[in-house]
Amino acid sequence: MNEQSEFTKVAKDLVVSLEYTLTVDGELIDSSEENGPIDYIQGHENIIAGLESELDGMKLGESKKVNVKAVDAYGEYDEEAVEEIPLSDFPKDIPLEVGVELAVEDEDEGPISAVIEEVGKDTVTLNFNHPLAGKDLNFDVKILSIRAATAEELEHGHVHGDDEDCDCDDSECNCGKNN
Ligand code: ZN
Repeated sequence: MNEQSEFTKVAKDLVVSLEYTLTVDGELIDSSEENGPIDYIQGHENIIAGLESELDGMKLGESKKVNVKAVDAYGEYDEEAVEEIPLSDFPKDIPLEVGVELAVEDEDEGPISAVIEEVGKDTVTLNFNHPLAGKDLNFDVKILSIRAATAEELEHGHVHGDDEDCDCDDSECNCGKNN
C-alpha cells in the first residue's frame, strides 16, 4: 500500500522540487543550475500563478515548456509607473546610476522597489515597474521530487528547508531564518 506515502503527481498541498530555466525575449534570466531548484508548496501562491496552474497534475520526472503571459506573471508594463523626481529629493547614500535598484517608501504600500531609468541635470527618473513587467516568461521545468508538506509548512504556507532558500518572513517560523 504505497498510495499514501508516494506522490507521483503534482497536487495541492504537496511540496514540489523544480528544476527550471527562465528565458525572456530569448535571454536566459534565471535557472536552477545557477540558483538551485525551487521548492514550493503547490496551491499556496508560492510561485507565480500562471506557472503554478500549469504544473498542477505534472508527473514526477516529467519535463514541460511553460509560457506565461505577462498578465499572469508580473503584470503589464505601466507607463504611469515612471516618475521624475527632483535630484534634491533623492537619497544621498544611493549611487546615482542608471539601472540601480532602490526601495522607496510608499505611504499606502510600504517600501516599493524602483530602478533608476535616467539621471538628468536636476531630476532622476524612477521606474516602479517590475523589471519583468510586460514580459512573457518562458519556463523549461522538470519535476525533481514531490513529497507531503508538514502540518507546520501548510500552516505557514511555505517550505521549511534545511537550507537558506526559505524566503520566510514569519517571525513564528522555525525554519531557522528568523532565529
Ligand atoms: Zn514558516
